[in-house]
Parts: sequence; structure tokens; C-alpha cells
Amino acid sequence: MNVLVIGGAGYIGSHILRVMTRHGHTCIAFDDLCKGHAQAIGAVALVKANGGDRAALVAAMRQHKIDLVIHLAAFIEAGESVVQPDKYFRNNTLIGLTLLEAMREAGVKRMVFSSTAAVYGQPERVPIEETDRLEPINPYGASKLCVEYMLRAYAAAYGLGCVALRYFNVAGADPAGGIGEDHSPETHLIPLVLQVPLGKRPGVKIFGDDYETPDGTCTRDYIHVMDLAEAHRLAAEVIEPGTAKAYNLGNGEGFSVRQIIETCRKVTGKTIQADLAPRRAGDPARLVASSAKAQKELGWRPQYPQIETIVAHAWNWHRTHPNGYGDK
Ligand code: UDP
Repeated sequence: MNVLVIGGAGYIGSHILRVMTRHGHTCIAFDDLCKGHAQAIGAVALVKANGGDRAALVAAMRQHKIDLVIHLAAFIEAGESVVQPDKYFRNNTLIGLTLLEAMREAGVKRMVFSSTAAVYGQPERVPIEETDRLEPINPYGASKLCVEYMLRAYAAAYGLGCVALRYFNVAGADPAGGIGEDHSPETHLIPLVLQVPLGKRPGVKIFGDDYETPDGTCTRDYIHVMDLAEAHRLAAEVIEPGTAKAYNLGNGEGFSVRQIIETCRKVTGKTIQADLAPRRAGDPARLVASSAKAQKELGWRPQYPQIETIVAHAWNWHRTHPNGYGDK
């Protein structure tokens, strides 16, 4: 297949490019490099443009005879979305609509969309199933859920085939090396904790220890970025026109903030200072996925479900690239 990866130069996008290419698909990265990194895409061709540029999207789809779009370009900081919701609805939701219109114009019928566990908000139960209540508690989750609703409508009205993948907490890096996580600013737990043994910060903050969880800190379901990328490939290969489906992607086990810090100490062999700080606004106590649907319908089998492996692969990237790609 010829695949246009919107946001292909980002953390998840670059891993998807590798997995899709290894399976014989031809990928084109479409990215304005405002957050992404040119070095992350390797030999894949780049269209340097913004996802909101409809003419550039249509031209790229026509020129490269695109069969399928994987849409990952988005702002991802839940906390920021609370204070700047306009940025999230403009970038995540409006660009989603522009992209769908560009696909109609170019006659591209299939899309894999990067959604998020944030569409569930405070879950009514864990593990979360796809049919559970959708009630985002921040504009980030809402901006993504709006796109899921558009996908459903476009599938029904225009025969689009789409799959929304609801990611839980993505971490790790390709064990083959050379690519990994490089956000600025970094807000995610594992890369922040690993900055301590790298000497880039004196310690890490634990955002609250009075949650209703075994050790009082929030629990999250961590998924290896290569397993996530593989799920995109599987979804891309089974999409049926006229359908809109959603799948959770996680490992079905929750790890607390304290457990993650302890795992980082074990993997790096270094002391890591951790200090208690107030709760971060908008954090659900527990997020754990049931990925039974993805396993059953997509045949998805995570290759790296162990948290130690996820952290070890992340550490391998950060240890060898302490300044990430060094381009920002
Ligand atoms: N967290 C923390 N200290 C940090 C960053 C994150 O205690 O410096 C906590 C955060 O409150 C949440 C968990 O770690 O409970 C995972 O946060 P992250 O931002 O990595 O992902 P999220 O679950 O928000 O998507």
C-alpha cells in the first residue's frame, strides 16, 4: 500500500514508518516539523507541510497514489489543553476535518486515526472496554473524540473506512536503535524520570500520593511504541470501506508512578531522587485498557509487554541520545 503518514516525523510516526516499511508498504511522511524531527524518518520521503494545508494534502495524495492515511499529527498535552483549548480544537479537530475533506477530494478511502485513552475521562471501571462511557475531562480528549465522531459520520455518509486506535501510555523505542522519544517540553513520566540519571534534572516529582490506588500514586497502562506501531499496520491491512471502528491499545496492567520510578532505578542502576508534589489537574487515578477487541479482531499480540523491557528500550535511546535529535 502507499501510505501517507501525517505527523510521520514524530515519536510514534517514526516508529510506524519503520514497521510499515519493513512490511513492504511505501510510506510518505507529511509533517511540518514543528514538533517532529527530520532525522526520525530515515530514508522515507517527506512532504514538509502543515496538516491544515488542504491543497498540499490533496497534491501529496494524488502524486503518491495514496491508498491509506495514518493521521497522528496533534498536540498532546492534556494540561495545556485546559488553558489553551482553542489550540487543541483548531489543531486536532479542525485539521482532522480538513484532512477528511482532502481525502474525499483525492478519493482516498481509508484512514487509521491516532486516538487516546483520554476520550474516556474518569473511567467508570478498569480495565476499560471500547463500549464504556466516552466523557473526556479535558479539551485534548474532547478534540480527539470529535474526530472519532467525524470518522463515524464520514464512514456512514461517504463510505470511508476508518479505525481509531485509542492509545494508553506509549513508551519505549525501537530496539534496533536510532529513533526514540524527543518532545520539547517533555511532560511524560518515563522520559522525565530517565532525565535524572542522565544528569539533566536533579529529581522527579510525584504528582499526588493520595489517590485510591495501592500505593496512592496514579496507575497507568504502558504500551511499547513498537507494539503500538504494529497495531497500526494490522489495522491498516484490514480496514473495510464504510466502517468506523475503535480499539484500545494497552497491556491490561496498571503500574503506579512509584513503580515506574523503581523500574527506572533498576534498569539504569542509578539513584533517582523523587519528591512528592501536589496532584496534577485532570489526572484520572487509574487507566488500564482491555485490548481484548484488538487482540481478537486485529490479531494484535504485543511483543514487549513487560514494563522492564519498555523502560530498558527507552533508556537505550536516551542514554545514546541524551539531547534527543538535537535539532530543537
Ligand atoms: N507524572 C508524575 N510526575 C511527572 C510526570 C507525570 O507523577 O513528572 C504522573 C502523572 O500525574 C500521571 C502519570 O505520571 O499519573 C503518567 O503521566 P504522563 O504525563 O506520562 O501520561 P498521561 O497519563 O498523563 O497521558
